[in-house]
Amino acid sequence: MICRALRFSLAIPFFAFAFSPKSGLADQAAECPHWLSVIPLVEDDIDGIADDAVAQGDKTIIDGIAWLMRLCPEGNPVADLASQYAAIYRKIEPKVRARSKVKQGVLLQSTMGHGGYPGEVSGFQTAVKADGSTVYRMCPLDSRFMDYIGRSCRTLAALKPDFFMVDDDTRLVWGAVPGCFCPLHLSALEKATGRKWTRQETVEQLQLGDREFRDVWEKIYFDTMEAFYRTIRASFPSDTPGMLCTTKVHFHFKYAKAFAQMLAAPGQVPVVRGAGANYAGNNVYHCIYKRASFAFQLKNIGSGVVYLQEADTCPQQLWSCSATREYENMVLQALEGVKGAKIWITRTFMTRERRSQLAYRRIFSQNRGIMSWAAKADFRQGGVVVPNVGVGEGDCDWTGFAKRYFALTGIPYRYGEAEKGEVTALCASSLSRLSRAEIERAFSGAVLLDGTGANWMSTNGYAKLIGADARPWARKTIQLHLDEKGFSLGGMRVDRALADLTSLHQGAEVLSRLYNVPSMGSEPKYEAPGSIVFANSLGGRVIVMAQPLRECMPKYYNQTLFGENYQ
Ligand SMILES: [Zn+2]
Repeated sequence: MICRALRFSLAIPFFAFAFSPKSGLADQAAECPHWLSVIPLVEDDIDGIADDAVAQGDKTIIDGIAWLMRLCPEGNPVADLASQYAAIYRKIEPKVRARSKVKQGVLLQSTMGHGGYPGEVSGFQTAVKADGSTVYRMCPLDSRFMDYIGRSCRTLAALKPDFFMVDDDTRLVWGAVPGCFCPLHLSALEKATGRKWTRQETVEQLQLGDREFRDVWEKIYFDTMEAFYRTIRASFPSDTPGMLCTTKVHFHFKYAKAFAQMLAAPGQVPVVRGAGANYAGNNVYHCIYKRASFAFQLKNIGSGVVYLQEADTCPQQLWSCSATREYENMVLQALEGVKGAKIWITRTFMTRERRSQLAYRRIFSQNRGIMSWAAKADFRQGGVVVPNVGVGEGDCDWTGFAKRYFALTGIPYRYGEAEKGEVTALCASSLSRLSRAEIERAFSGAVLLDGTGANWMSTNGYAKLIGADARPWARKTIQLHLDEKGFSLGGMRVDRALADLTSLHQGAEVLSRLYNVPSMGSEPKYEAPGSIVFANSLGGRVIVMAQPLRECMPKYYNQTLFGENYQ
């Protein structure tokens, strides 16, 4: 229905996509690998690990090995973990370098700490949450911890790695009230405001929404993290590229680009590995959801950054997903402008799953061409566009059409704003996240609108743009949706998400009709328009469907196009 209507009524060439190599960012950061394979630096199988690193560099898309090192402090006095890793690195790195051009670098997989407690804790100040609880994450305001990090990074810098990457444990944000409330941070707040603050007073003040106070608190956070990142940067040679992993939480994400710039070498385009691996994402919609999530992250981070996916999917862990699903995920996100990924398909320090590892390598090797292409391809003319409005919790995708229709049917689409000749696809969940100016801009071009969107437009004063005073359905039930060219659909649900389009504006043309069948065997009776096309005063041309999007997609597509066995 959707395709037919668009093809015949708008004459949009659906598959007229123009791809051209992207220029600029990727070229400037050529020295920085973008497809990183994480391998824990362990001593139990030096030759096997080196062989695997070489094979990944030769046969898959991987162009960098990120040797995993955990520097989060252990023991009191603190253990010299960096020297232990350096000793293993010296054994394994030459074995790879002798046979492969794959870059080899340092993944500082933990520095401040991901939260888990080691066998023996250090004596450094840990971060304190708003509720007063602590996790095992070091606070960078403790100068002893900063000395330890600087010393550790200098030990690793002596190895002359091709790059370093800082993991996403480098943040002080949890829950609704972000920041570290340890004594050192409260002391910094006292210095900035000229008065003493307890943790409870600070939390209360932040919850009051006092803008000025929040700015002071945010500045302390920024300064804390800046000092931390600059300590790491200064410990490595100035020409060693540095990369940042971030999460989406609070103001850490807001400053991700600035922090990545602090870690970058002179002349290097900042690299940010974004948030959201395909963890536990084996259901039908998860890849589509992740693509929407990354498109939205990319929009918020802004231009001038090389953005990488979080694709950690260690096959022997709870957080794994299949090789096919991971590959699909990486290609879809690459199409949105994500340039690479940090992939963990090898082993942990203590466990490995050889058969799964082989499956990942096979899939990644078979598909390296399309993965590489996707990272370079550019949607100049996407044909179908859905607004880049982000995602909700779980698999909720506010973009609607992307998840419910285009991805499942295989129709290419992109996130953003339509350019001339493109069609914007809208439903209520995406419309409610757009500004008036964005809505008017969209409706000055070609638009495809579902029943929820039609009802939303009318309720919010935009009926004149769609050619009907749409109302939530309160008429007789319907059993058939037909048009004159032979389209037919039955078995639809009838509820208030269905739009009643009987009140048409002048110029609106009915494309298809909804019918009521009074009793078994009787002739269907026309009840209301099933879809209309309308040219509005902004110069836009709109197809309005009465049915909600969820009713436009035969259920069997869920099982076929995005099924596990579909490759
Ligand atoms: Zn602190």
